[in-house]
Amino acid sequence: MSINIAIDGPSGAGKSTIAKMLAKKMEYVYVDTGALYRSVALYMLRNNVDINNDRAVGEELPKVDVRLTYNNGTQQVILCGENVSDSIRTPEVSMGASRVSAIPAVRQFLFDLQRNIAKENNIIMDGRDIGTVVLPNADVKIFLTASAEERASRRFRELSEKGDPSTYEEVLADINKRDYNDTHRDVAPLKKADDAAEVDTTSLTLEQSVEAIYKVINDRLSQKESVPAEEKPKEKSSLALKRESLDFSNVKPVTNPKPYSKIRAFGYLILRVFVTFCFKIAFNLKVYGKENVPKTGSNIFASCHRSNLDPIFIAINARVPNSYMAKDELFHCNKFFVWLIKYMGAFPVVRGSGDGGVISTSIQKLEEGRNLVIFPEGTRSKDGKLGRGKTGVALIAALAQVPVIPAAISFKGEKLKFRSKVIVTYGKPISPEELKIEGSDTRSLKKIKSVIMDGIAELVNENVNKL
Ligand code: C5P
Repeated sequence: MSINIAIDGPSGAGKSTIAKMLAKKMEYVYVDTGALYRSVALYMLRNNVDINNDRAVGEELPKVDVRLTYNNGTQQVILCGENVSDSIRTPEVSMGASRVSAIPAVRQFLFDLQRNIAKENNIIMDGRDIGTVVLPNADVKIFLTASAEERASRRFRELSEKGDPSTYEEVLADINKRDYNDTHRDVAPLKKADDAAEVDTTSLTLEQSVEAIYKVINDRLSQKESVPAEEKPKEKSSLALKRESLDFSNVKPVTNPKPYSKIRAFGYLILRVFVTFCFKIAFNLKVYGKENVPKTGSNIFASCHRSNLDPIFIAINARVPNSYMAKDELFHCNKFFVWLIKYMGAFPVVRGSGDGGVISTSIQKLEEGRNLVIFPEGTRSKDGKLGRGKTGVALIAALAQVPVIPAAISFKGEKLKFRSKVIVTYGKPISPEELKIEGSDTRSLKKIKSVIMDGIAELVNENVNKL
């Protein structure tokens, strides 16, 4: 079961800055729910909808396509295909968000989106009603406050640095007005949940605030842990929940994949030769274990993740095209780029929207005779050390029952540079028998995952000696 941490409090109490820092420290996903209300406000303002008219706003809501994606762990807000992460931060949109957030239809509209994100991930979510309405069963609830004057001077400094001409008095008036709106609205008003820990940051520095909250979180989580097992309600892993809500009963092992079309494979060969040529110029590329790459498709490549070019590093030695998961936001770019990445085998993953479709699409790609590239760590490793793998790779391997080829990509430093020495190593394919697939329950999946992660770790270690 994913761990949910709710941080509520008035505008300008430092929720987002603190929550972001904590999420980074704890490797949780940070969800800024204010950004969702801001996006609804931006949509209404841009489309000349009167935000004081609840009905008019309600009627426009079905057209508001808002989603959150993550770029290197940083939340991006996509409104109708456009990245509006910066445009939602103006004082006009702040006030608009405060107004539209009082409309029940708007709160209802954003409710499921917030809940679904929390169901799927370990998250730190900040807002006004997270501990009271959105996640009443959150594992830890924090109510963050600071005096209105302190909050106004922090916000004033922030706006001045960005060149915003607002005066301190205006910012303070704005904060007071938003406080009033938030606490006096009929639906989900801002208030401290009974079981929330209150932290007042008026006289704390940012670092002290982060430390204070980190301590509260750790204390509360360890209290939960120490409850004897028989007293704890039996919790299900998020994967178990996902499997329950998804029906994999009609997913069959990939026993008879289609041979990949010879003509398309030839087209792919030409592309591969060209890309290999470019990569050999751009990097000092060394490849080991080519003999381990099967000539036919329908294999899973499970690799450590170092850079955005990883899918290509893995692909240049595969004889048939690979498929791989890519961030949804890439599919909202320029049409040619979208065509190219799709041709190269990418398919979208929308974080926080449930991934049943991703599992089915992955298996479908294997059935079509393509290989599937998975980076089990999920996010890129900056220092080259192998992070913890997620069990998604094991679920796909268990359902599809195809060989898994461990792979490792290594280079020195955080970023890939022109002429960097890059080592790509493929390990021996691990057969479904060696994976000892017993089932797709959480325990079996963890075992399968460890076999795969051990395979990758061995290659990462080998590469370090060759760098
Ligand atoms: O946190 P932020 O200032 O970005 O939020 C913008 C506005 O959205 C707030 O003034 C508040 O009225 C509203 N909001 C809300 N419930 C949330 C998050 C934000 O009503 N969970």
